[in-house]
Amino acid sequence: MGLKRISWRKGLTKETDERVSKAAEKSSKTKKRLFKEGKLIPHNKGKKFSEESKIKMRKAWTPKRRREQSKRNITMNTGEKHTKEHIMKNRLAHLGKNNHFYGEKHTKETKEKMKKSWTSERRKKHAETSKMNAIGRKASDETRRKMREQRIGEKNSFYGKKHTKETLNRISGENAVNWRGGISFEPYGKEFNNHLREQIRQRDQYRCQQCFRHQSELRTKKNNPRKLDIHHINFIKTDNNPQNLISLCLNCHNQTQFNREQWTRYFQDRIGGMI
Ligand SMILES: [Zn+2]
Repeated sequence: MGLKRISWRKGLTKETDERVSKAAEKSSKTKKRLFKEGKLIPHNKGKKFSEESKIKMRKAWTPKRRREQSKRNITMNTGEKHTKEHIMKNRLAHLGKNNHFYGEKHTKETKEKMKKSWTSERRKKHAETSKMNAIGRKASDETRRKMREQRIGEKNSFYGKKHTKETLNRISGENAVNWRGGISFEPYGKEFNNHLREQIRQRDQYRCQQCFRHQSELRTKKNNPRKLDIHHINFIKTDNNPQNLISLCLNCHNQTQFNREQWTRYFQDRIGGMI
């Protein structure tokens, strides 16, 4: 009946499966706990889908539609700012007869509603927001500088400490080569820009989808705040369909560099469950 989902475990021996299996178990426990504590919101909150409609939705993502969506993302998410020329063209395109509202008039009722909606409170708020936006940039730069100063030298939590041999082995040498090599020589799709990344983080409620740590807890080596990585589930860095993207913290992202095939299946299964 319907679409058969293949378990990510299928065809794997116990031995090769073990690491991913353990990680999956731990992850699902954390997820359950966070749901209980109300820190995670179910993805389908407010809209309960029947099994039938879930299957339908999954089927709707045909390879053709995936390709089309991907193309759409390219044009939507190139991240290039609109040029002045482009903005003018756009404006002209919607002028006069070309505007969808051309020839139509708001009813008196609508006009009244529009007027009323600008209450003095809303006006005040609007003015405040504009002001905040103007000074926000400066304030955050200042805060960043202060935060940096606090972490220099003795104040840094890693000050005077050394990585153990084991850790060094893990983070350098061949492992690091695999990792870096994978990144620097594979081209990312043009649409894989900050905007798309941020959308995925938002979709994932700013939590690593493996250990569910919140982005606010993540730090760089230098103890600076670190954003969640966006992982390409099938390891194809040009496939930037949102269904192929998932937020992971650096630790969990590193884990995925081994047993790639298993991790691909595992996260595909995960993402499938989200729709
Ligand atoms: Zn994680």
